[in-house]
Amino acid sequence: MLLRFPPKVESREALKEYQLKGLKWTVNHAFNNSPFFKESFKKAGVAPGDIKTLDDLKRLPFTTADDFRDGYPYPMLSVAHENIVRIHASSGTTGKRKIVCYTQKDIDDWLDMFSRCYEMANLTRNDKVQICVGYGVWTAGAGFQLGCERFGAMAIPSGPGNLEMQMTFLEDFGTTVLCCTASMALLVAQEVKKRGLKDKLNLKKIIAGSERTSPAMRTKIMELLGVEEYYDIPGLTELYGPGTGLSCSESENIHYWADYYILEILDPETLEPVPPGEVGEMVYTTLSKEAAPLIRYRSRDLTRFIEEPCSCGCFLPRHAPILGRSDDMFVIRGVNVYPSEIDMILSKCGGVGSEYQIILERRDDGKEYMTVKVERAELADKLADETSGKWIYDQVRQKIMVTPIIEIIDYNELPRSERKTKRIFDNREI
Ligand code: ZN
Repeated sequence: MLLRFPPKVESREALKEYQLKGLKWTVNHAFNNSPFFKESFKKAGVAPGDIKTLDDLKRLPFTTADDFRDGYPYPMLSVAHENIVRIHASSGTTGKRKIVCYTQKDIDDWLDMFSRCYEMANLTRNDKVQICVGYGVWTAGAGFQLGCERFGAMAIPSGPGNLEMQMTFLEDFGTTVLCCTASMALLVAQEVKKRGLKDKLNLKKIIAGSERTSPAMRTKIMELLGVEEYYDIPGLTELYGPGTGLSCSESENIHYWADYYILEILDPETLEPVPPGEVGEMVYTTLSKEAAPLIRYRSRDLTRFIEEPCSCGCFLPRHAPILGRSDDMFVIRGVNVYPSEIDMILSKCGGVGSEYQIILERRDDGKEYMTVKVERAELADKLADETSGKWIYDQVRQKIMVTPIIEIIDYNELPRSERKTKRIFDNREI
């Protein structure tokens, strides 16, 4: 059980009351201190006094990434400048970055949440935590490191890349926990294998974030590194950063820290809640965030709620791993395809590995084609390619309703990346 960084309340019932209190506080705070929120509430015809139950959340207007960009450089600011102690930015690739401001209390809350993640992953103060994520203006480095210090374990801020140094540190410091993206974990794992270091290491756990992974990729990483625990940590810059939830030892599903924010899962088209267990867009409302509160923020990330209580004993609610972004969805021959659906199929095929690319193109005949290029599993026999290819072909046709071209290529032929791996290549002319 979580003892040092426990939930603010002890039951689901009490959580609802706590959330309502936080929601009322947030709405009042935003309305009174942010011209942006005041304006948007007025447009929606809602005032703070209208929020009487949790159900009244649905009366509040949505916010989106555009609001972050329009409000640049201090979007959604709801405190005086003298109270901001730090900013972070998203690693966004298009246009202006999304900037997030923090008060000291926001930072403290974030680090308490992050410490809860380390506690849930059963770390102790004796753990040595090698943090191979990006440092700088984005949230990963600061979150993983300061959270680790708040928790009380030893942080090794090794940053991303530099495999030579990572190998030395893993061995010399006796690193027990590796924090990184899944892509980086795979690079580290393959390097460990190449150097035959596995038995010399003391590595016990991986905490991997900010990237959708397939079960096949996780299994591969764990095998190569000889670790038994793999935790998935979600991270959204607009919502503090990484550390707002963690998968537990019982499954890949994520307990999220519902005493700091309310999560809605909505149909991206109708913006109504999806039926229980169905996939929808994650929409966030914070309960105590001061500098830049989120109110019904549409993240574009997709997942579903897990309704059943978890056997680990933690009552905090759960969602499934993030299944992708509504932006990642592509349409081919009129069919909506989420890359995670292809992940799932490939993960179930023994003859192929975890690395793949999806290439979309329009050929001379005017038709659209989808090629799935996937690496053969490391020890698989080339002679089995035909059987594997046929199986994947049939599954994609049946489950996704698109006729694919399947290419099985040699192990290690696709590029590895220390950040997020690009897998979809849309070469169709617009
Ligand atoms: Zn659990």
